[in-house]
Amino acid sequence: MTFKSDFEGKGQRAIYIAGPCSAESERQVVDTARALQSPGIDYFRAGVWKPRTRPGSFEGAGEVALEWLKTARVETGLKTLTEVASPEHLMSALRHDISGVWIGARTVVNPFMVQAIADALEGVDIPVFVKNPINPDLKLWIGALERIAKNARGPIAAIHRGFSVYNQNGYRNPPRWQMAIELRRRFPDLTLICDASHIAGRRDKVEEVSQQALDLGYDGIHLEVHLDPDNALSDADQQITPSQFAEIRSRLVFRKPSSDDLEYLENLQNLRNRVDEVDEELIQILADRVALTRKIGEYKEANNISIYQPERWNEVWEKCHASGLAKDLDEGFIAAILKAIHHESIRHQSEIIHDKKAKHHGKGN
Ligand code: PEP
Ligand code: MN
Repeated sequence: MTFKSDFEGKGQRAIYIAGPCSAESERQVVDTARALQSPGIDYFRAGVWKPRTRPGSFEGAGEVALEWLKTARVETGLKTLTEVASPEHLMSALRHDISGVWIGARTVVNPFMVQAIADALEGVDIPVFVKNPINPDLKLWIGALERIAKNARGPIAAIHRGFSVYNQNGYRNPPRWQMAIELRRRFPDLTLICDASHIAGRRDKVEEVSQQALDLGYDGIHLEVHLDPDNALSDADQQITPSQFAEIRSRLVFRKPSSDDLEYLENLQNLRNRVDEVDEELIQILADRVALTRKIGEYKEANNISIYQPERWNEVWEKCHASGLAKDLDEGFIAAILKAIHHESIRHQSEIIHDKKAKHHGKGN
């Protein structure tokens, strides 16, 4: 499946979505949009209906806030976005001239609801942004994108906002970058935006997450921006002020997906050729190592010696570890490679013993 991806500026610069987590008042919505005009953004976002984890939190101003977004759009010329979690939300947002919508992480987990929204989008020509589901399930994310793409006429983008897991290790929603990279591998043309605010959960970390995404080749960045972040009615910890947004935006470096520059292309090709050669050597070296290991295995078997000899393994480990560190290799990387090599040796040597035993039994019978 291909996804319509004609977003202005795509591939040339980062696409920016910014705005408050929630629309709180007409003043706040219009003033924030005005404050974002000069750094420049592609879409002004504000949540009108807020999916909150627990009751009693601010659940959004509702339909009236769509009027505020309309005023902001008329006064600033910025395109507006809001979250829709049902066909009713979508219809209401369209009645109020919304420019585009996003489907939130809690809605994407439910294919019935995604399909209902997709049905309501039949023939509608507005951009639709699909967040990843809160659980790390790539198929569910792709499924939602496909349901929407089948019906909608406008461009479609995926927003990576991280995954809700029990053990948070420093992020509010750990990114699991591999998941988004795999999405990109399967659908290279699909526009991919990083929601650094919901991944980081902390304002001092949103820039780092944004740059990491751009380094990985994302097409754009989504950041929550509030005039008075500490007093925001939702997601106070992760929102930044418009001037912080302007600073971050000016520091972020966009990486182009490719270049037409001939010198660049030639140099890149030369480097890639060398990498291919090194890979070939690496495979040959691994094959040689396996062959040697098998010889040792046969020798041990013939002498009735156990396969696993911890002192020998410690020696190999220490030597390779020290030599890897001296060559500036990452400690975790060295450990992972050595472990994989060791497992493979043990597997081959066990196989030798197993085969010999089987032969032996065969003879006996
Ligand atoms: C939001 O963007 O404000 C939001 C609720 O996001 P998510 O669906 O990613 O939690
Ligand atoms: Mn939010």
